[in-house]
Amino acid sequence: MKRATGLHILVVLALASACSPTTPDHSAVFDGTAGRWIDLTYDVSADAVFWPTADPFVLDTVAYGMTEGGYFYAAFNFASSEHGGTHVDAPIHFAEGRISTAQIPLSALIGPAAVIRDPAGDNPDHQVGVEAIAAWEARHGPIPAGTTVLLDTGWGDRWPDPVRYLGTGLRGEEAIPELHFPGLDPEAAQWLVENRDIAALGLDTPSLDYGQSSAFETHRILYWENIPGYENVASLPELPEWGAFVVALPMKIVGGSGGPLRIVAFVPD
Ligand SMILES: [Zn+2]
Repeated sequence: MKRATGLHILVVLALASACSPTTPDHSAVFDGTAGRWIDLTYDVSADAVFWPTADPFVLDTVAYGMTEGGYFYAAFNFASSEHGGTHVDAPIHFAEGRISTAQIPLSALIGPAAVIRDPAGDNPDHQVGVEAIAAWEARHGPIPAGTTVLLDTGWGDRWPDPVRYLGTGLRGEEAIPELHFPGLDPEAAQWLVENRDIAALGLDTPSLDYGQSSAFETHRILYWENIPGYENVASLPELPEWGAFVVALPMKIVGGSGGPLRIVAFVPD
């Protein structure tokens, strides 16, 4: 029997590759294997913390069980304020003429994240100031244009206990004067819009302005510049100060002032 020579083997290999379908080049495709995804979203349920004057999340059963046709079927109606649980604030929420929820561009919702850690400790009236931004920049350099800034005040540990997280278990208008939780100092918001070109600003408390704010200046400053806000963002301690990539996809409500938000971050290895 004649032995296969090297030339024979080369010919066979060449024929095999010529006959097989073209293999797609995967080398340039993001496949999520070089890191891990972190879910920054709280569960959406009746237990989620909502702004005291906002209607809570309600899930009504339309059908649940076996049908006469012999198959299982489940369907629900849901109702909810735009501003509860992990959610987006569209700029129009506090700035007339600015963009609404469905108009927020993907370029604002998807991109690199700077996580500014400024622990509030037990101070429920803490405001993240310009110094915290300066400290972050001293370590990493100026916040690049298009960055989503996320404030990790440590307040997320208190979710979902309304008394510890909001400062009160009351609901309705009488709860408003009792609200105590950290926020972004309006001076820092002003500094950001004058000196940096951020894509969005999120934090681990119920509102961008601290609980005792009555003028909501931080909201007004950022939203006037069409910068959206993310409130009640979960699991920020799991992100590095720099290096995470955020994907924040709100329900695309036409004309909305906000809406439920699914926000996740990719953290490279
Ligand atoms: Zn809101």
